[in-house]
Order: sequence, then C-alpha cells, then structure tokens
Amino acid sequence: MAVKTAINYRLPQVEQLLQHPFLQPYVLALSRPVVTEIIRSQLTLIRQSERFKVQGAEGIDVLAAVVKVCEVQQSKRQMRVLNATGIAVHTNLGRSPIVTEIWDSVREVNTGYSNLELELATGKRGGRNGLLPTLVNAWLGAEDCVIVNNNAASIYLILHALAAGKEVIVSRGEQIQIGGGFRIPDILALSGCKLVEVGTTNITTSDDYINAITDNTAMVLMVHQSNFSIQGFTESPDIQDVAKRLPEHVQLVVDQGSGLSSEQYASSETSLSRYLQMGADLVCFSGDKILGGPQAGIIAGRQGLTKILAKNPMMRTFRPGRIVLSLLEELLIRKLNQTPSGEGIAQHTLLRCQHTRALAERLVAKWAPYAEMVPMEMQVGGGSIPSETYDCYGLALLLPGKAQQHLDALRAMPTPIIAYLHADRLMLNLATLLDDDLHHFESQIEHYLQRFQK
Ligand SMILES: *Cc1c(COP(=O)(O)O)cnc(C)c1O
Repeated sequence: MAVKTAINYRLPQVEQLLQHPFLQPYVLALSRPVVTEIIRSQLTLIRQSERFKVQGAEGIDVLAAVVKVCEVQQSKRQMRVLNATGIAVHTNLGRSPIVTEIWDSVREVNTGYSNLELELATGKRGGRNGLLPTLVNAWLGAEDCVIVNNNAASIYLILHALAAGKEVIVSRGEQIQIGGGFRIPDILALSGCKLVEVGTTNITTSDDYINAITDNTAMVLMVHQSNFSIQGFTESPDIQDVAKRLPEHVQLVVDQGSGLSSEQYASSETSLSRYLQMGADLVCFSGDKILGGPQAGIIAGRQGLTKILAKNPMMRTFRPGRIVLSLLEELLIRKLNQTPSGEGIAQHTLLRCQHTRALAERLVAKWAPYAEMVPMEMQVGGGSIPSETYDCYGLALLLPGKAQQHLDALRAMPTPIIAYLHADRLMLNLATLLDDDLHHFESQIEHYLQRFQK
C-alpha cells in the first residue's frame, strides 16, 4: 500500500534567498532593496501558480527564477558596449564616446567645489561659461556663445527668445524630423513663432527667402538635412547672398547640427566657421556628434543675440551643469592645439578605416572558416554627414544556425557586442571598434567560436 505523503508547500524564505552566494553579485549590481523586491514578487508568482497549488514546492527552482529576473534588470544598467555597427556617432549607443584623457582631466574639478559661478579675479558672482566663449571664438571666429543641454534646446531657445510672436521663414526642404518626435514645425509652434514656408522640397532660392520677408519677420532659419540627403535636381540658396540681402530686423540662423568644423573629409558639407563667414548671425550644433564632447547644444555667433538668449528665463531650464562645461572646455583646448585627443570620434574612426583591412585579415586567419573578410562602409551617423560614406573592412561571421540568434548572443556578452545583419548574414564592422575595445572584442568572439570547433 502506497504511503500518501503530504505535499510540501514550503518555499525558501526571502531572507534566506537574499543571503545566497549566487545572488550577491546582483545585490552589488542592483541594490539590496531591488533584489529583495524581485525575490518577493517571484515567490508571490510561484505561490499563485497552478503548478504550486497542485504539486507544491517540489521541483520548483526559486533561485533560478530570481536570477533570471535579476539578469534582465542588470542588462538595463548603463554599460560599455562594443560598437561593430560601422556607425561612429550612433544614437542608440550614446553617440560620441568621450576620450579617456579628457574624462580623466576633469575629474579633479568635478569631485571638489569649483569656481563655476565665482569670478576668482574679483570675488564676484560670475557667469558659468568661463573661458568657453574665448575658446569658441578662437575655434570658429564667433563673437560669443551660449551653451545649453542639447541642440534641440538650442533651437527652442533661439526661436523663443528672438522670434516669439513673429514670423520665421523655413525652406520646405528643411521641414524635417530629427530623431524621435523632434519636428521643426512643431518646435516652431511651441516656441510661439509663426512658420512661413518657402520654396519646394528640392529647390529653394535666395529670392524665395527675400520675397517672403514682412515687417513681422524675425528670422530665416536654415536646418541641416540631418538624416537624409536629397540628390539629383536640387538647388540650395547662396547663403552669402541671402545674408547680404536680409534687412536689419531679420536674423539668419543656421541649425548646422553636427558640429563639423572642417570640410576636409566631407566636401559636400558646410562647416560652422564657413556659415559664420557667409553671414549667419547664429549657428547651433550638438556637442556630442562630430565635436566628440558631452551632450550639449552650442550656439555661437553675434554677441548682440547671445546676450538676449542668455538673459531669457528659459535659459535657466536649459543650462548644463559643470561636468558638461568642464568637458567642453578641456576638449576645445585640445582641439585648438590639434592634439589627437581633441579630434572627436568621427575623425578617429576615419583614421581607423585605413587599418581595418589588416585587422580583418589577421582575424580571418585566426577565425577561419567561421569568419570572412567583407568590404564595408563607415558612416559618421547621428545625422552628421548623411551624404558621405567611407570605405573600410569588416567580418561576416559564418556560424551554424540562425544569424539572428548569434546577433542576440553577441549582445548578451559580458561586454555586449553590437553587430548587425545584412542579407541574413551576421556582420561586424571593424571601423567603429575603439582601440581600447579591441582586446575585449577578440577574446569574447574567440570564446564564442570555441563552441563550434571540434
Ligand atoms: C542632431 C540634430 C539636432 C538635435 O540635436 P540634439 O543634440 O540631439 O538635441 C537638431 N538639428 C540638427 C540639424 C541635428 O543634426
């Protein structure tokens, strides 16, 4: 006669699980209260499950369930990833990485008190820009600058402070959406300006701008066509001509976007200083695209206008903190001195392109038959230089099974590798790997390939 055993409904206790050695790394990575909450909610889920009601705790691995949720939570933390996408300024990957030397050199000023708003020469309260206007002037030849948290804020502040209640003329070819939910017409409406559209998608002339001017016009706004380029039958106005013909009460503002300061590698683009030379009253751009700095919006140009921007009450909501300002300062000094650390990620990646062939050859020699050398293209990305690509080399990984599965596996590595699929093949662009990342990249892929080797 079989002995009917009582069902065991005893699950481990919260405190007992929290002490488990397997969970200690998660306590460090996520904090004790967060891990405690995960344990509680997993225990609740288990208690409510049909299986538990029928069979009890027998065979239920609470620890495994908790670890699984902890893993998912941990993957949400900010962490370093390896960029094998071939896009140097990648919006999903934090845009521009900050050069280690620059990061290290602002450590001292940011971990103590600083003279952020104190004029040391007089002992009086000062502005927070410090040396930045002088540096931006030396760099671009602009009279003055205003720094805000990002370039979207630049545009809003410029429109709101200089053109609220007035007309702003924008070409139909430049009524663009930049990234998620930032549309030029919307931002114009929000800032209290009236949009006056001129020209067509492919053609806008100087006359189009000049003929649209009324007594109530405050500004001509030109916007860089960030994430697309129109090719073929197109005509853009001669900016110098527009600037010359604008009446005194109308400002010419160029949202240049990328921060490109030399046409050397992008002959189809116009640099910031060129726009200013051609007569733009203000230019604005991001700090974390081609410039290679922290997230910021930089507005440079005529002092009469920057003073108005700086005094606007909205400035208070847009001003960056000292971490950003000190990083920008350090970066611009290095840029002006033409040290490699001041070059920014785009330039760095461009130089890297030349070395990718040798690198690809070396890796293929090591990883054959699972890797194949493939000619690829590097893009600057982040809406910086949409019309140009740069030749480089990369690898296709040829592994048994589905490419998507391997793509996901690379993303789940301790230092995630962000690759991409092309024609159902797993691609690794070598141009966007940083020098510091190469070692990690190689050892992780090598480890991954071991499972396929006999
Ligand atoms: C990127 C970009 C913006 C937005 O800048 P953020 O720094 O992302 O706020 C605005 N205008 C142009 C032309 C851009 O390229």
